[in-house]
Amino acid sequence: MPGRLQHKAALITGAGSGIGLESSLLFASEGANVLLIDVNVQAAEKVQKLIAERYPNVKSAAIKADVSKESDIKAAVDKAVELFGRLDVMFNNAGIMHPEDDNALNTEERIWDLTMNINLKGVWWGCKYAILAMRNNPTDASKGLHTGGSIINTASFVAIMGAATPQLAYTASKGAVLAMTRELAMVHAREGIRLNSICPGPLKTPLLMDFLNTTEKRERRMVHLPMGRFGEAIEIAQGALFLASDESSYITGTDFAVDGGLSSCYVTAT
Ligand code: NAD
Repeated sequence: MPGRLQHKAALITGAGSGIGLESSLLFASEGANVLLIDVNVQAAEKVQKLIAERYPNVKSAAIKADVSKESDIKAAVDKAVELFGRLDVMFNNAGIMHPEDDNALNTEERIWDLTMNINLKGVWWGCKYAILAMRNNPTDASKGLHTGGSIINTASFVAIMGAATPQLAYTASKGAVLAMTRELAMVHAREGIRLNSICPGPLKTPLLMDFLNTTEKRERRMVHLPMGRFGEAIEIAQGALFLASDESSYITGTDFAVDGGLSSCYVTAT
């Protein structure tokens, strides 16, 4: 059985942990050549080693890049094209949730700027250089390859829901990711470039679990989760795989929720 991303090339940001780690392994298992980028390059290199061991038929590499720096993202996209000859999938996934991110009164400007630079500007750079590369993708009908590609931007359930446990900069950055992705999806629809946001619910990854570091904090959220549990990073990776593959060929501009029903919830079951 050919993999769902056979012959395709993917670049995944924040590939060293959580959603990025699981997506890197999953995309490679489906036949994609993958370039993993992370500021924590050691973490990305560990994931790349696993890929090389488990999936020797795919090409993979890991490089250090800070998504908030335009030159890093340009270099990473250039590297993917150099290694794989094309870029079919860009997963702009890296993001931070800063412990000092708070409400309108307490959040410092430096925290706001840092969060926006990584969570929003980083996604813009990723879209910009992926679009430029995808326009030049050669078509090879025998391998199911075509010009264009799929860009997936990680937003969050907090982009569409309010929370009385505020992280103002984070929430604002993720709302902007949704708006930006929708607009880019319309601009590039006729070039065969699809752009979708993925909106994870609260997950058992370091990003959230480091923040919810007491039972009380976790229970405060748990009561609102329709399925009575936090999500797993692999469950988001599976959603991203669908958006990355040609199975979602008529889907662009969506806010794709993988949130265990949270954004549809008024009252949870007992
Ligand atoms: P994680 O902390 O487990 O992994 C994030 C990775 O991104 C880390 O490896 C980190 O080193 C990397 N990273 C951070 N800043 C970077 C930068 N400037 N450049 C390159 N890499 C950088 O987080 P996760 O839970 O896997 O989150 C991934 C994405 O999902 C984030 O955008 C996050 O906001 C979003 N999200 C997470 C949750 C959740 O509950 N975990 C919920 C909704 C949305």
